[in-house]
Amino acid sequence: MATVHLDSEAIETFERQLGGTLLRPSDQGYDEATSVWNAMVEKEPTLVARCRGASDVIAAVTFARNRDLRLAVKGGGHNVAGNGLCDDGLVIDLSPMDAVRVDPAARTARVQGGATMADLDRETQTHGLAVTGGIISSTGVAGLTLGGGWGRLGRKYGLAIDNLRSADVVTADGDLVQASDDQHPELFWALRGGGGNFGVVTSLEFDLHEVGPEIPGGVLAYTHDDVAEVLRFYREFAAEAPDAASVYAAFIPAPPEPRFPEEQWGETLLLFRLFYAGDLESAKAVFEPFRAFGEPVINSFEPMPYVEYQQISDDLFPAGRRYYWKSNYFDDLPDGLIEQLVAHVEDLPTQYSSIFFEHLGGEIGRVDSDATAYPHREPLFAITVSPAWTDPADDQVLIEWARDVYDDLAAYASDGVYVNVLSNEGEARVREAYGEHFERLRSIKTEWDPENVFNVNQNIAPNR
Ligand SMILES: Cc1cc2nc3c(=O)[nH]c(=O)nc-3n(C[C@H](O)[C@H](O)[C@H](O)COP(=O)(O)OP(=O)(O)OC[C@H]3O[C@@H](n4cnc5c(N)ncnc54)[C@H](O)[C@@H]3O)c2cc1C
Repeated sequence: MATVHLDSEAIETFERQLGGTLLRPSDQGYDEATSVWNAMVEKEPTLVARCRGASDVIAAVTFARNRDLRLAVKGGGHNVAGNGLCDDGLVIDLSPMDAVRVDPAARTARVQGGATMADLDRETQTHGLAVTGGIISSTGVAGLTLGGGWGRLGRKYGLAIDNLRSADVVTADGDLVQASDDQHPELFWALRGGGGNFGVVTSLEFDLHEVGPEIPGGVLAYTHDDVAEVLRFYREFAAEAPDAASVYAAFIPAPPEPRFPEEQWGETLLLFRLFYAGDLESAKAVFEPFRAFGEPVINSFEPMPYVEYQQISDDLFPAGRRYYWKSNYFDDLPDGLIEQLVAHVEDLPTQYSSIFFEHLGGEIGRVDSDATAYPHREPLFAITVSPAWTDPADDQVLIEWARDVYDDLAAYASDGVYVNVLSNEGEARVREAYGEHFERLRSIKTEWDPENVFNVNQNIAPNR
C-alpha cells in the first residue's frame, strides 16, 4: 500500500466527527497508545483514533477506506505478531471502549470491543458468573475471541466462541451490523475463529456460567531431575481428567520471589497450575494423585477468588519485554517429545523464557469442527516456545533458539496452529491456522471485505 498524503483539512474534519480523540505523533498520549505488549513491535502510525463508540469506529473505517490508508485495529495490544499496530496509516484504538454489562437474570454479558480479560472477569464475577477467557488479565477479549479463545474454563464450557451469542461489527463499508445465528450467520461463523479479517467488532454478547467466586486451585513445581517422569504422569492425568479440571503447565526459571523456594531461584522448574471449576471436595479428590506424585518443591492447594486466579500468571508475562512465539498442537505427549523437552529445558536461554502447555480437550473437542471457523478441536495440548528478553542485540539468538526447539518438537505435533499465537511466520502457516476452513473463510472475506481493508492480521486475502 502506497504512503498516502493526508491534507490537514481532511484530518481536522475527521477529528471533529470523533467522540474520542485523534492522536498524531507529536501529541501527548501517542507513545502510550502505540506501545503494545511485545516490545519487539515498534510501529509508527500517522494517526491513532481513540474510539469511544461504534460511531467513532464507523468514521475511522470510512476515513481510512476512502483514502486507501493502511488500517490496524488495536484491542488489548497483546498480539505477539504486533497486529494491533501498523506503520503509517491509521490505528483504531478500542481501549477506551472497555465497558462490560452483565444481565444476571439472563446470564449474559455485553462486552465492548476494547475490554480486557480483567474487565470481563471483574464484572461477571460480581454476579458469581464467568465465561471462558485468557489466562493473562491484560489480554483483549475481542482479539482473543475472534481467534477462538482458550482458557481454563474451556474444558467445561468450550472456547470463548462457543459461548458467543452475537457480535456487533463495523464492516469495510462502514455499516454497523449484528451477526448471530439468526442474522448474517455466515459472517457470525467466520468471526468465530477467522480473526480480525471481517470487520471491527464493537461489542460481543456472551453466555455466562456459574463459577466461583472462589475456586479450588493450586500449584505444583518439580525440579529438572523429575521432569520426564512427571510429564509422563501429566499426559495420563490430562487425558483422564474430568472437564472441570484443567492443568496448564510451564517450564520457567524460578524468579527470585518468596513464593518460590530460595534454593531454586534461577533454576528451571516444571510448574503446573491446578484449576477446578467446581466444589472443593471434588477438586481435592481429583488432584490428590497428582499432588502425591514425585517430590514437588511447591505443593500448594487452597481455594482462591476466581478473579485472583485469573491474574496469577500476569507477572510472568509482563508487557514491555521482547517476545517471540513458536507454537503447535499436540494430541499426546509421546516419550520422544518428552525427551526433546527434557534436553531443551537444560538450556532455557534467559531468566524470562518459558515453554508453556495449554490443557485443551473436554467440551472444546465435543463441538463439531464445522460449527465455527475454529478448526482444531481434537488436540489435548498446545505447546508454545516463548523466549523473552530485554536487549535488542539478543533478538537473533533468541529467535533462533525458539525455532530450533520448535523444529525438534514439530515431529510430534498434530496439524495446524492457533491463529492467536502465530508470530509473523508467512502465508503457509496462516493457512495451517485456518486449516480446512480456509476456502470458506476466503469466500466470506470476499463478500464482506473485497478490497481487504482489514489486512493487518493473520490475513485471508479475498478472491480477486
Ligand atoms: C501473555 C499472553 C497470554 C495469552 N493468553 C491467551 C489465552 O489464555 N487464551 C487465548 O486464547 N489466547 C491467549 N493469548 C493470545 C491472544 O488471544 C492474542 O494475542 C490476541 O490477538 C490478543 O488480542 P488483543 O486484542 O489483546 O490484541 P491486539 O494486538 O490489540 O489485536 C490482535 C488482533 O486482533 C484484532 N482485534 C483486536 N480487537 C479487535 C476488535 N474489537 N475487532 C476486530 N479485530 C480486533 C486486531 O486487529 C489484531 O489483528 C495470549 C497472548 C499473550 C501475549
